[in-house]
This record gives sequence, structure tokens and C-alpha cells, in this order.
Amino acid sequence: LLQLFRPLNMLGWVYRSIKQGLIDMEQMFSLLDTPAEIEDVPGAGPLIVDEGHIRFESVRFAYEDGRDILCGLDLDVPAGSSVAIVGPSGAGKSTLARLLYRFYEPTAGRITIDGQELREVTQESLRAAIGIVPQDTVLFNDTIGYNIGYGRDGAAQDEIEAAAEGAAINSFIAELPDGYETKVGERGLKLSGGEKQRVAIARTLLKDPPILILDEATSALDSRTEDAIQSTLSNVMRKRTTLVIAHRLSTVTDADQIVVLDGGKVAERGTHDELLAKGGLYADLWARQAAERALEQAAAE
Ligand code: ATP
Repeated sequence: LLQLFRPLNMLGWVYRSIKQGLIDMEQMFSLLDTPAEIEDVPGAGPLIVDEGHIRFESVRFAYEDGRDILCGLDLDVPAGSSVAIVGPSGAGKSTLARLLYRFYEPTAGRITIDGQELREVTQESLRAAIGIVPQDTVLFNDTIGYNIGYGRDGAAQDEIEAAAEGAAINSFIAELPDGYETKVGERGLKLSGGEKQRVAIARTLLKDPPILILDEATSALDSRTEDAIQSTLSNVMRKRTTLVIAHRLSTVTDADQIVVLDGGKVAERGTHDELLAKGGLYADLWARQAAERALEQAAAE
């Protein structure tokens, strides 16, 4: 029996590891045709987003019994605002995003969008309402036009181009010899990290969701690319409720609210200036990352 269980366990592990990456989850569902572990409750209705107000109320969550990652977390993301989630590595930042997308369910407490509890609505409607700009965008071995158009079924060429314009990648594409017909991916033109991120931003603009999850890249893009990406991201975030999963603090100083996770709870919250003035955990993390940046710069010179 053990012999039989080992490969099954292994499969489960691979499956969970893939899921863990919070890579483009929408894409993964259609690529792998992964059956969702979570099922809709009988009679679940569609989520109706009027404003996009997100609330986590006393949320507890554990991947494994006995090891709580979140222990009674309260979080309020007002409609149309941006909230950055920061905290030490392993604090549960990405876990929050996975719960919002309902890859997993809280073991206690609830999450609501405009007052509707996530477990009461269909997953399809929930996922249609949320756009994700992942850390690492997976590209199909197809044309760049297809890769952007994937954001919305049946998008017309002029809509694809408008989205590319919004993501500041239109002129790059226009200069390619085959334009939007250029093949990309493993067997085509390789795009840089910044270009792939723009493709993800263009897809999201096409999808036009009221709620956005940005999973910030862990690895530093060069500062010019990063500034350019930041300004296109501000374009996407306008008028949407945005949860930013931030691994580096330098990219979230403009967020309406910064929430610091520690020990499974919200340890601090406020704007960048308020949190620095407080001299607590955020100020410590900021000082540490500033020192690391200075070291990296010195090494590069
Ligand atoms: P980082 O900034 O390093 O990406 P994070 O704050 O986003 O970290 P999470 O990815 O949310 O952290 O993980 C929180 C904790 O849950 C970590 O201790 C991690 O090891 C654990 N964890 C994450 N995914 C799983 C999983 N699928 N199964 C079991 N444990 C997991």
C-alpha cells in the first residue's frame, strides 16, 4: 500500500508546489485543466461587484494541521484603494492572495467582497472579477497578439493594441518584423522579465477586472525598467481595488495603505511615512532593505 501512496503523495506535492508559485493562475487552470479542490456550494450565485470593497474578518488559515499561517487576521481594503502587504519572508503574504482567489478556504473567519462571502459565490464569477499580474508571466508558444488577447475571449485586434498601448509595449511590438504575429515563448522570441510583465499588464487591461492582485517580482529589474513598469502599473490600478503582494518595500511607498504581516496577524498598518515615523517592524525592514540596496549598488559600481 505504501508503494502506491508514495507516487500519489509525490504527485500531490508537485501539484501543491506548482500552485504555490502564484504564477498566472488563470492560465494554469486552462492549461492543466486542474480540477479545483474547492467546490461551489449548491445554489451558489454569481459575485456581483458594485464597488470592490474587500474585507478579511478574523481569518485563520493553516496549510497543515497545527501550523497556523494566519491566526485571526483582519484586513479592510476600501473600494478603489491600494493596499500593499509586506512582512518578513514566510509571513503569509502570498497566502492572502491565494485565499482571495479562493485557491484555499479560511479555516475560520470570512472574506467578503462588497458584503458577499467568497464561499457563497461561484468560483467562476469570483475569478472573472480578479485580475492577477504575477511575478513571472507564463507565455504560450504562440504569437504575441494571442498572448495579449488571451486576457479576454474574442478581443478585437484594435482592443489588443489599445491594451498594449496602456501597458507601454505597443511600440516595442510594432518594431518587430512580424509585429503582433511574432511568435514568442520557448520556441519563439524570448522576452525580458520587464517585457513579459508588460504582456501580463496588457492582458489585465483587456480583462478589465474591478479587483487586482499584483504579485511583485522578487528579483530586481533594472531601475529604469522598474520605474517604467511602476508607471504602467499605476495606470492599471486606477479606479480598481488593488492588493499588492510586496517582497521589496521600495515599490510600495505610494500605496494608500501598507499592512505589515507578522506572526499571522496585522502587526502594523499605515502609510509609508506614518510607518517610518513609528519606528517599528516596517521601519526595521525598510532600514534593512535600504542597506541591502546600498550594498548592491556599491558592488555594481
Ligand atoms: P515570501 O515573501 O518569502 O514569498 P510570503 O509571506 O508570501 O513569503 P507565503 O508564501 O504566504 O509567505 O507562505 C507562508 C508560509 O506558509 C510559509 O512558511 C510557507 O512555507 C508555508 N506554505 C506556503 N505554501 C504552502 C503549501 N502549499 N503547503 C504547506 N505550506 C505552505
